[in-house]
Amino acid sequence: MNKPSILVVDDEPDNFDVIETFLTNTKDSGEAKQDYNLHYAASGKDAIASLEVFQPDLILLDVMMPDMDGIEVCKKIKAMPQWSAVPIIVVTALTTKKDLAQALFAGADDFISKPVNRLELIARVRSMIRIHQQYQQLATFNTQLEAMVQERTAQLQSMILEDSLTKLPSRVFLLQELKRCLQAGESSIALVYLDCDQFKLVNGSFGHAVGDQLLIAIAQRLQQYLRPNDLLARMGGDEFCFLLHQIEEERTVELFLEKILQGFAQPFAVANCEIFITVCIGIALGNNSDHQPEELLQDADTAMYQAKLRGKDSHQIFDRKMHLAMFNRLILENDLQRALEQQEFILYYQPIIDLQTEKLTGFEALIRWQHPERGMVSPAEFIPSMETTGLIVPVGMLVFKKACEQIRAWEQQGWTELTMSVNLSVRQFSCATLLADIDRILTETGANPANIKLEITESAIMDNAETAISITKELRSRQIQISIDDFGTGYSSLGYLHRFPVDNLKIDRSFVSQIQSENRNYHVVDTIITLSNQLGLAVIAEGIETKEQLKWLQNIGCQYGQGYLFNKPLPASEVEKIYLRS
Ligand code: C2E
Ligand code: MG
Ligand code: MG
Repeated sequence: MNKPSILVVDDEPDNFDVIETFLTNTKDSGEAKQDYNLHYAASGKDAIASLEVFQPDLILLDVMMPDMDGIEVCKKIKAMPQWSAVPIIVVTALTTKKDLAQALFAGADDFISKPVNRLELIARVRSMIRIHQQYQQLATFNTQLEAMVQERTAQLQSMILEDSLTKLPSRVFLLQELKRCLQAGESSIALVYLDCDQFKLVNGSFGHAVGDQLLIAIAQRLQQYLRPNDLLARMGGDEFCFLLHQIEEERTVELFLEKILQGFAQPFAVANCEIFITVCIGIALGNNSDHQPEELLQDADTAMYQAKLRGKDSHQIFDRKMHLAMFNRLILENDLQRALEQQEFILYYQPIIDLQTEKLTGFEALIRWQHPERGMVSPAEFIPSMETTGLIVPVGMLVFKKACEQIRAWEQQGWTELTMSVNLSVRQFSCATLLADIDRILTETGANPANIKLEITESAIMDNAETAISITKELRSRQIQISIDDFGTGYSSLGYLHRFPVDNLKIDRSFVSQIQSENRNYHVVDTIITLSNQLGLAVIAEGIETKEQLKWLQNIGCQYGQGYLFNKPLPASEVEKIYLRS
């Protein structure tokens, strides 16, 4: 370590000599050792001029000097920011309280009276130097700490503003930018919010490392569509968002969208695989100056959600009505949960008739919601919501149980030949406990499985064909029959039917309602029936409303039917009054 530097300021050079002698450390061996680097200035002016050269750690300052006295020098030095921390010991013959007060007031840190006493000088110099060194260490430490804090803050700031995986701006950054635009009164902006479809499948099948690489590849591809001044941010997970400027009309966004969608038509080369991925896109236009940044982002997100509801690879521009729709949906979801707890769901039964004999063969169980205020609510209003929330799984099982109890009750009254058709949703079909639940309910209710038909839609089958085949096989091994519901509205392919172990085909109402007019449906239904007969499938026509429709269906050999012509879905008590009198 460097020796501390001491500047002695005195107009009398002899006084410097005395101080130098006193501060010289003479060892027992007689060897003289200087612990300090001593420097001399003969006047206040010289002292101030030499500070830079000597870099003093301590100043010993005489008071009585010509030109500028020590008090003046002290004041000047203490007023200089770079030297104000250097301790000053005033060395003076003036020792009245007033003199000392004056010195301290000028900023002096200590004083020594003249003539200088050796021990006092050594002690004061040493302690003052030590204090100064400690002060300097502290100051250095503080500076380092400040630098560290600044660096860390900058790191955190960039972490908050930048997504670490894709290096794109973050959600926070986008919101800041959006706020700036809106505050500047920019109204021709748009948010284009993207969410990858079924990204979970990528993580699930290839692992998260590949998922991460795919996200980076998507980010890179999306960046190619950035126009100057526009912004692309990763919002988290598999979501990205563009902030576009100068969007004067919807058409500009549409053109932009087309480019992006085309971009996703090409696969992404990741980890030696070619992965195809699609996105759903929600767009919010910032043409309303009252918008808050979070609101606009929420609108884009809502639109994206609406697009998702329509299926993958869809896009949607935000519309005010969507808020209301979202709100209503939430209310409905809550209401349905409550309805299940309050046992507000009941079953109606629609007769299914043998069209050749016009005799009753069985019923289709159809759910109804007895709403405390709205009265009877139709399933079309709430089944889709139950499908999304998954509530259809417990509710579907409740329906199955009630239907089993009912058919068992009628069987016990002697109606042993009647069948009961129960609808099964896609969600139920993919539920792991489906077979176990069905077995339990059959045992609990004692219903005869041979009298039960389960109706599934084409999409339930096509969504996961292999599982569908194995489940339908299991069900049939229990003697339960399988019907394809709403046939003709989905994939409309008879080609796949032979691969599935099914028993019945229900022709959708839309075909039946149009058959009077000699149009294409006439032949379609004809063909369906001919082919079904060849495949050994029974056909049930849905929605028969007129005598003509009945006649025609009878003519082309359709075996069963249901519809308002015979009866609407009825409560069990009505069914018993009309059909089951003994
Ligand atoms: P679906 O399974 O195709 O049921 C036939 C629907 O057509 C019933 O509507 C029935 O009332 C109606 N319908 C029957 N005959 C006629 C007719 O002559 N003319 C007209 N216009 N309509 C007729 P509903 O009861 O409103 O049920 C609608 C759909 O809700 C059902 O279509 C089914 O997909 C679903 N659904 C009903 N109950 C359940 C259930 O317990 N579980 C599941 N997963 N879905 C159900
Ligand atoms: Mg049905
Ligand atoms: Mg149907």
